[in-house]
Amino acid sequence: MSEIQGKVIIITGASSGLGEATARRLAHQGARLVLGARREERLQALVDEITRAGGEAIYRVTDVTRRDQVEALAGAAREAFGRIDVLVNNAGVMPISPLNRLKVEEWERMIDVNIKGVLYGIAAVLPTMRDQRAGHVINISSVAGQVVSPAAAVYSATKFAVRAISEGLRQESRDIRSTNISPGAVTSELTESISDSRTAEGVGELYQLAIEPDAIARAIAFAIEQPADVDVNELTIRPTRQPL
Ligand code: NDP
Repeated sequence: MSEIQGKVIIITGASSGLGEATARRLAHQGARLVLGARREERLQALVDEITRAGGEAIYRVTDVTRRDQVEALAGAAREAFGRIDVLVNNAGVMPISPLNRLKVEEWERMIDVNIKGVLYGIAAVLPTMRDQRAGHVINISSVAGQVVSPAAAVYSATKFAVRAISEGLRQESRDIRSTNISPGAVTSELTESISDSRTAEGVGELYQLAIEPDAIARAIAFAIEQPADVDVNELTIRPTRQPL
């Protein structure tokens, strides 16, 4: 039987892109899913699709910048399934632009969603995982969490932070696994939030080589399906043709 079968897995940002693909793949492998994001109609449609196919999933509308809502998402998992095996901290935004455009509100949004959202997720599941003496936190960083490129300073900073948080959690835990996943260009809605037109144009060119989100879902499944004494800490998954 797969190590994924029966596991209670929370996924943030499950309404599109990587989160949605991960939900589909893990449901197919027998996970019990708790899905969070802001767009309820998307979550409802995904839960309907999964349950029609014989899988198990519930959702809770969640804005990860609101700690109370992230706590409620974890609470929904405990209430429905009695435990939390995995948190996939996936929700993220990427409204990138050069610093000199002073898009300070977008900087704040990236910090709130990409860093504080990830921390709220960890805070919401850690006490339960400690009590269980078992658990697994999977944080979605980025290749931008390894290298900085023009126009991506703040986004990169948030993804470097995610990597630091993953490593800190790993060092502090003896029975909770910590996985940091760094995707390269993946087809999703992520680039739609770029409001700076020159930046959007450049990113549009890079993303012509983007790979499908299921490539990242497979990496997430790989990390989860290892036995409890094996902790997959770092995975980077790029399109073969991606230079940086
Ligand atoms: P999408 O834009 O397709 O998905 C982002 C998800 O995050 C959506 O489900 C969105 O749901 C959710 N989200 C955004 N803001 C919030 C919020 N405040 N509260 C709760 N959920 C929120 O992009 P991806 O699937 O590509 O992104 C997923 C992760 O992968 C992100 O962390 C991103 O940084 C990372 N990544 C993506 C790469 C790529 O090339 N696509 C490369 C490297 C990393 P909703 O709007 O319904 O709330």
